[in-house]
Amino acid sequence: MPGRNFLFVPGPTNVPERILRAMDRAMEDHRSSAFPTLTAALLHDLKQVFRTATGQAFIFPATGTGGWEAALVNTLSPGDRVLAPRYGQFSHLWIDLAQRHGLRVDIIDVEWGEGAPAARIEEILSADTQHEIKGVLIVHNETATGVTSDVAAVRRAMDAAAHPALLYVDGVSSIGSIDFRMDEWKVDLAITGSQKGLMLPAGLGLVCASPKALAAREQAKCPRVFFDFGDMIKANATGFFPYTPSIPMLYGLRESLDIIFEEGLDNIFARHHRLAEGVRAAVRAWGLKLCAKAPRWHSDTVSAILVPEGFNGADVIDVAFRRYNLALGAGLARVAGKLFRIGHLGDLNELMLLGALAGAEMAMRDVGIKLTLGAGVAAAAELYRSTAAPLPPRPAAAPSPDAQQPGAGKPATPRAAVRA
Ligand SMILES: *Cc1c(COP(=O)(O)O)cnc(C)c1O
Repeated sequence: MPGRNFLFVPGPTNVPERILRAMDRAMEDHRSSAFPTLTAALLHDLKQVFRTATGQAFIFPATGTGGWEAALVNTLSPGDRVLAPRYGQFSHLWIDLAQRHGLRVDIIDVEWGEGAPAARIEEILSADTQHEIKGVLIVHNETATGVTSDVAAVRRAMDAAAHPALLYVDGVSSIGSIDFRMDEWKVDLAITGSQKGLMLPAGLGLVCASPKALAAREQAKCPRVFFDFGDMIKANATGFFPYTPSIPMLYGLRESLDIIFEEGLDNIFARHHRLAEGVRAAVRAWGLKLCAKAPRWHSDTVSAILVPEGFNGADVIDVAFRRYNLALGAGLARVAGKLFRIGHLGDLNELMLLGALAGAEMAMRDVGIKLTLGAGVAAAAELYRSTAAPLPPRPAAAPSPDAQQPGAGKPATPRAAVRA
């Protein structure tokens, strides 16, 4: 198919050209004396994305799932109790992983479309006077339903119950895209992957551990080899890895962090919010509803859009892909067929998103959903226009070639002014 593939699944996201170029390089010796320069800077800079000064960063050749596993097996023992609300496919899978490691999970089932129930968590922790519960597992942004939970509220609930459990947060589709504050929220284990907000291919599982989490290692009896923090800490101390790292991914991560710091995390969060508001305006204009039950749960990185009764979200996705070369996210598990998702995170701007919205409404019309073609695009475009930042200044006029001639020191000539 000519033209670009419009990739609007929540992950993998679009990889910027700069990152693709940074990754396109010859292999090198990962035990050379030059290698630690790369590693040490990555481990240091990564902490800024997690907003932690006291935490320790780990880079595993893995994915977000590997990050889940690393966080749990380094800090817990088989038979330990953990508390986990379940409100979508990702919270479900993390619970499943915990159970397969022999942890006893107290599951709080929450309606899909809502997020972590802070009051209920406080109640349960307050009742656990023996402090049997060792951890609380929260998926910050439930990618399956487009719901963002209030991690600060969960922390307040844990503090109100004066409970010492560790706080584990899956930030795979939030960290680097929406506000996340590891230190301020006293998150003990924060997890992300490379293929969402970090704009890289899948291939890295990134974890940050608090000093309290690192101390919990001493008692933690879960078997661990590949994901052992201890081996990683030892090797990382001199700038190396306990096994062969993925060199292109590390150079890609270097470029990703540079891009993120150039834009600035707060600007990135504001951009994601504004882009998401446009998608939400489109959904309203279509007369449809989000899976997220209330504005407080709205995710700025992914919108899960319910299709009307009698239609199948999978048909919309299928037509969008085959006819318009647009990749939308599917409904997973319990919400399969009921919705489709638009991922709006990473390397993205208004016009890219308007393209995705145009494709989504064309595909919806094609499968018979009644809506006015262009309604969603118009609503989003109006929002983007009316909330646009002031026009950035033109680049300063380049000095005219005349001005560089010896003896020429005059201000810009009319010709140069026209050219600028
Ligand atoms: C994508 C995602 C994961 C899983 O990550 P993989 O890299 O596919 O292992 C976990 N949690 C959330 C919230 C995600 O969005």
